Amino acid sequence: MAKKQFKTESKRMLDLMINSVYTNRDIFLRELISNASDAIDKLHFKSLTDDSISIDRNDFKIKLTIDKEKRTLIVSDNGIGMTKEELDDNLGIIAKSGSGEFAKLNETGKGDISIIGQFGVGFYSAFMVAKKVEVISRAAGCDEAYRWVSEGVDGYTITPSKRDRFGTDITLTIKDNDEKNNYDEYSEEYKISSLVKKYSDYIRYPITMDRVKSRLKEGSEDEYEQYTENETLNSMIPLWKREKSEIKSEEYESFYSEKFFDYEKPLKVIHQKAEGTTSYHALMFIPSKAEYNYYSKNYEKGLELYSRGVKIMDKCADLLPDCFNFVKGVVDSEDLSLNISRELLQQDRQLKIIANAIEKRIKKELAEMLEKDRENYEKFWKSFGLQIKYSIYSVFGANRELLEELLMFVRASDGKLCTLKEYVDACPEEQKLIYYAAGDSAERLKLLPKTELVRDKGYDILFLLDEVDEFLMNILQRYSEKEFRSISSGDLGLETDKEKNEKEEKEKSFKEMLEFIEKSLEGKVSKVTLSSRLKSHPVCLSSEGMLSIEMEKTLASMPGAKNDLKAERVLEINGSHNIFEKLAGLWEAGDKDRLAMYSQLLYNQALLIEGLSIEDPIKFSNDICELMV
Ligand code: ADP
Repeated sequence: MAKKQFKTESKRMLDLMINSVYTNRDIFLRELISNASDAIDKLHFKSLTDDSISIDRNDFKIKLTIDKEKRTLIVSDNGIGMTKEELDDNLGIIAKSGSGEFAKLNETGKGDISIIGQFGVGFYSAFMVAKKVEVISRAAGCDEAYRWVSEGVDGYTITPSKRDRFGTDITLTIKDNDEKNNYDEYSEEYKISSLVKKYSDYIRYPITMDRVKSRLKEGSEDEYEQYTENETLNSMIPLWKREKSEIKSEEYESFYSEKFFDYEKPLKVIHQKAEGTTSYHALMFIPSKAEYNYYSKNYEKGLELYSRGVKIMDKCADLLPDCFNFVKGVVDSEDLSLNISRELLQQDRQLKIIANAIEKRIKKELAEMLEKDRENYEKFWKSFGLQIKYSIYSVFGANRELLEELLMFVRASDGKLCTLKEYVDACPEEQKLIYYAAGDSAERLKLLPKTELVRDKGYDILFLLDEVDEFLMNILQRYSEKEFRSISSGDLGLETDKEKNEKEEKEKSFKEMLEFIEKSLEGKVSKVTLSSRLKSHPVCLSSEGMLSIEMEKTLASMPGAKNDLKAERVLEINGSHNIFEKLAGLWEAGDKDRLAMYSQLLYNQALLIEGLSIEDPIKFSNDICELMV
């Protein structure tokens, strides 16, 4: 019979396995057992909604059989099985999950081969120890069984076969020893049982194996006889149901990396056991980095949901609020009814109670991390801070109580991250406002002329570097009774009444000149004023109203943006600067042409300082040349 060929990537994967680039070949058993356990989960889940499948939960098991003579190891399950098509699809093509990820990593050449064991490498890992793999499977609800056989990269065949009940038997013919490797142990009871203990102890179904034991012969005092006993090798208690005090951190870590395919240690492990009206176990992890698709639409939040040891959902979204959508983990509750459909589950009261408790717990852990483990918290913030900010913004601050203490911004004084509380605690007593400057780089913001006066007073400034930040500030309005104030806003609240009066007086006496400048900048600025925030610089741009210049930039950059939302720009001129005297001189001499040209130049300079582009760069450059020659 003609052999079918593996798909290209599968071939590459197989090649890696056969040549055992990865030294920890022990993991093959874990992979096969996980597949068997998934297959039983699937059958169990199906049986809840499909009356034609009658099974007794207590029958579920994974059976290992060793034949030392034949050098075979069989992994059998009574799970959902595979049809002929499924055998072809699932075992002929590299699987989407773990193995796919690994192959990608390996393709780019950046992959560190030693981490392979932390991915689910899947079915193909059998080829690390077997020269031949045979799969006999009968799908639930089908009468026929099929046999899939492969001896490696050459391909595979599928032929009709027989099997009494549904389920799958995977027979590995163990490789022969060579100069470098001894494979004998894979057909030894001791080795196999210790691999089960090590990697698959919390599999929920019994993993059994016949073990040869010896005992005293009946009636005899020194004569022994051998007998076989069917032994259950795993303890079946999932990690999340075990006592916290008995779990080593490595166990949590390897559980996390195997389940969620993340080879970096999680920043935090949250193991929660709740008892009371609603009881549940939750084992959750805060990853140290955002996944590659985290900030995209494809990212799906959710926790794995189990009820009475059976997985009901891979990603139960209702268990996690959006603000904490980065959390990974498992929830297991006896209190959820098993045969409810997914739609009904959403309305389940118990589920809501669990979700609320989980939300509180995650918040508590983050707050604690902020307080006690600053380094990790800052790591967390760099990966997921944006999500926290967006989630406050998207519900118009309804969840601020939950989240505002978690916020961090870079502060001007030392360029470090600080919380709002830290900012306020460090404020001099007389400081009434929380100042911020929005832009895309802290380096540039630091040099902005506008920050001069505020910093001279000894007040710190928060730098808002993400686009959402200023919108967020507009929603929050204040923190601990102190209002947020942009350093670009008209009133910085710094002037004394005397200073205000003086400025107003000066503005009055130069009213006509300022109006003339305003007129010559018509359509560009809505107002020209004397500045109360500049010390050594001649001009700056500020804005009036709800929309700032930074917000205008953000809105304009959004897809499909209509360019009609504009900040109301104000050109501020430093009344104590030499330039101002120059302008006043021109006005007095009636040299309006030159004054108009200077106004344009100053406006353009202000634009450049803000990091904005100027409308007519050629004219700007010609004007400057004219001044130079
Ligand atoms: P993964 O488990 O990561 O999806 P594998 O390569 O291990 O990838 O397996 C590929 C697919 O083959 C599985 O997703 C599953 O659909 C199917 N499969 C493997 N083993 C079994 C089994 N014992 N019973 C039923 N289906 C199985």
